[in-house]
This record gives sequence, structure tokens and C-alpha cells, in this order.
Amino acid sequence: MKIYIDGKYHDKEDAKIPVFDHGLLYGDGIFEGIRVYGGKIFKLREHLERLYDSAKAILLAIPMDHDAMQNAVEECVSLNRIKDGYIRLVVTRGAGDLGIDPRKCPVPCVIIIAGSIQLYPAEYYSEGIPIITASTRRNPVDSLDPRIKSLNYLNNILAKWEAIGAGCLEAVLLNNKGYVAECTGDNIFIIKNDLLITPKREDGALEGITRRTVLDLAPSAGLKPCESSVTVYDLYTADECFLTGTGAELMPVTLIDGRKIGEGRAGEKTKNLIGEFRKLVYSEARTVH
Ligand code: PMP
Repeated sequence: MKIYIDGKYHDKEDAKIPVFDHGLLYGDGIFEGIRVYGGKIFKLREHLERLYDSAKAILLAIPMDHDAMQNAVEECVSLNRIKDGYIRLVVTRGAGDLGIDPRKCPVPCVIIIAGSIQLYPAEYYSEGIPIITASTRRNPVDSLDPRIKSLNYLNNILAKWEAIGAGCLEAVLLNNKGYVAECTGDNIFIIKNDLLITPKREDGALEGITRRTVLDLAPSAGLKPCESSVTVYDLYTADECFLTGTGAELMPVTLIDGRKIGEGRAGEKTKNLIGEFRKLVYSEARTVH
């Protein structure tokens, strides 16, 4: 595996960054997780837009433009001969001193890792998974906008520990008003009658690329997309529920805090959407040249 760091490729064992990098010391940086399907990079433009928007929001000047970044990502995928895999694109504040002052970090660090992906077992997609509601609340939107995909995931990690403690893969985070925000590494959707509902961004959801893709697919699956506030009661009484994320794609949820959702296995409408999504990823993804 060849890992890109600041324009140079390194073997995995030699891919190193300074201990003074503020990405490590303070979680000061941003990242993207991107899928490669059949040699094609899925929604690369959208991921790069989110990356550059995150950078702007935290006053991080990525030391290369959009096109150069796109070329670097495509080159890294080609060089590692990735047909079906996962790209982790990271931009840290770079090396500074031990203080928090970001001005002491003159050069941000760009890292691209293109590797394989560990897929979830197929039965998770047919049977669905159990999840819980975490007692850890989502960072308030007015403290840290969830649209910034930052390296600072402690809020999510605390909720992930709760999921692990309950023997689950994922946990739902509520915002400080008690509305559903998202899960630790995935967005959440419910289906009620013909409505496909996901928490609105203002309630603390990351604007997931998979979330947007699924909202756009809703009409083709006979569903009306809707971004609104969602309560725990809405989750418990949903006809169907599923999570979305670059790694998980669409993952059916069949148990929430001990309440069976629908028939207790992946719902028909969710399965339809999964079918539409899989069709799309192999047709619309951006080809690597
Ligand atoms: N929410 C959080 C907190 C995430 O980290 C992610 C990405 N892993 C998502 C939602 C899903 O976003 P995407 O569909 O862009 O992967």
C-alpha cells in the first residue's frame, strides 16, 4: 500500500507525520471517507466540496486547489490498484508547537490512504441491526456545526462506547433539545407511510453524501423525502428505519432500545432503496482515468 503525504508516496510502515501535528495534538483538521465501486470513485466532487467547505469553516488553507486534489485522489487510487475500496482523505492543521495557536502551523498536511474496505456481513442487510439511544448528546450546533467533518470525534466516540456496552453497532445521538440528530458515524432515516424522513441539519446531522443520495432516490422508490425534526417516539413507531453512511451504505435497523421496528427484519421499502442505491453506485460513480 502506497500512502500519499504532502505530494509524496510512502509504504504503510514509513507513512508518518510529526508528533507536533495539531491534527494529533488537538484534533485540528478535517477528513472525508470515500468509496470506490468497480474502479470508480463515488461522488468525488461532492466529497471534495464538503472537504473544502469544512476547511473554509475552520480557516484551514488547503495547500492545493480542487483540481490538484482530485488528481491526487485519483492517482492514489490508480497507484494502489483499488477496484472496490475506501479512500480516507485527511487534511490536518500541520506541525506547530505545543500551544493551540493554529497560526504556529504554517503548512497543513494532506494525507490520502486508498485501501480495501471491511464490509459488514450480508445478514445485517437482510435482518437489520439493533441500535440504542445514547445518553451522550450531540455537540450543540452553535458550538460546533456538524457540517464541519472534523478530526474531533470524541462526542461520537463516547456514544459509540455506549453502543458497544449495549452490544450494538450504532447509537443514536439526540441534540440538546431531545430531537434525534444522527448516529456516531451514520445518518438515520425512518419511513412512515409514504414519507422518507431524516433529521434536519439544524438538529445536528452531518450533511452525509449518502443521506443526500438517498433523499434524491426517494421518488424512484415511491417515497416522499422529508427533512424535519424527529423524536425518539417517531423512531419507535416508524414503519421502517435505516442508517446511511459511506461505509455502511444503507443499513436496516430492526430494534431500537428494545422496540421492534416494523416486522423486525429489513422492510420492503428499505430493500427497494438499497436496490436503487446499488444500481446508482455502479452507474453514476466517477470513473478513474
Ligand atoms: N454522520 C457522521 C457523524 C459521520 O461520521 C458520517 C460519515 N461516516 C455520516 C454521518 C455519513 O456521511 P456520509 O454519507 O457522507 O459518509
